[in-house]
Amino acid sequence: MKLNVVIPCYNEEGNVALMHKVLSDTLKDIKYELIFVNDGSKDKTFEMLKDIYDNDKKHVRVINFSRNFGKDAAIYAGLAHSNAKYTVVVDADLQQNPKYLLEMMRVLDEDEAIDVVAMVNETRKKESGLAKFLKNGFYSFINILSDTKFHKGASDFRMFRKEVVEAILSLGENNRFSKGIFSWVGFNTKYLAYEVEDRHSGKSNFNIKSSFKYAWNGIINFSVKPLKVATVLGVIFSLFAFIYLLVVLIKTLIVGGDVPGYPSLICVVLLLGGLNLMAVGILGEYISKMYLEIKKRPIYVARNKLGFDDDVL
Ligand code: UDP
Ligand code: MG
Repeated sequence: MKLNVVIPCYNEEGNVALMHKVLSDTLKDIKYELIFVNDGSKDKTFEMLKDIYDNDKKHVRVINFSRNFGKDAAIYAGLAHSNAKYTVVVDADLQQNPKYLLEMMRVLDEDEAIDVVAMVNETRKKESGLAKFLKNGFYSFINILSDTKFHKGASDFRMFRKEVVEAILSLGENNRFSKGIFSWVGFNTKYLAYEVEDRHSGKSNFNIKSSFKYAWNGIINFSVKPLKVATVLGVIFSLFAFIYLLVVLIKTLIVGGDVPGYPSLICVVLLLGGLNLMAVGILGEYISKMYLEIKKRPIYVARNKLGFDDDVL
């Protein structure tokens, strides 16, 4: 088979039918299978997917999660069930126009040396100034902190050769930051520009709060530098504190006690207390991630599947 299309779906009842239609039209000349992953939707997404499957058993596969595990888990499940020459991940809401699939395939067909085609939202016409500023800030920040490099604006909208999919799956971590994993595995990546379109139906699952959580998660997953920052700051402040201690001691011995000085004292106490807490907090972030990884829980749990004749979970 030539192409697998992995489509993570969370509350996409208004989109999946159109998505299936557009994909079928776009891919009519090639051998393909669509893997829809229903990520614990609370609406009628699964019922819609069942209908779509009943009407197009040749091309449609469905993995139905037992609850919402998040987009990254859905991507993992889809990739784990793909077996085509190329596999592409595309959102269910038609923001990433399936017409680009042909272009991505052409790049891989024409150049053996390219393993991944990643679509980049360069213009971000639809985003507010603040969103652009925050996203740019995130990429600059994570590129300073992490040894894995992140391409500005590159989304999860990517097409991989089979070997790349295998490499991605070989990273068995539970807390999956797909963007990081995609760049960590390496391979030759070609970046192509695309325009993000408006959501066809429903609303985005990501808001400012969840975006910050996502960004922080990415940083913690792909960099240990925050731990080092805490150590370096601790060392610098301890050094200053020690020097200041000597100064105070000598001063007290020579000119006697210094009862005023409360403001400076309280400042130092608060600052050091704050830094201590920050360092402990950063440690806690990493330990909590380790705790969750160590349990070796599965990345997702499937309630049932449609259209697969194997039992790969
Ligand atoms: N998605 C998912 N699980 C989630 C959240 C989102 O599978 O917990 C899917 C969603 O159905 C869509 C894609 O991930 O196909 C991107 O989500 P969304 O459109 O909400 O994000 P945005 O485009 O606003 O970044
Ligand atoms: Mg979207």
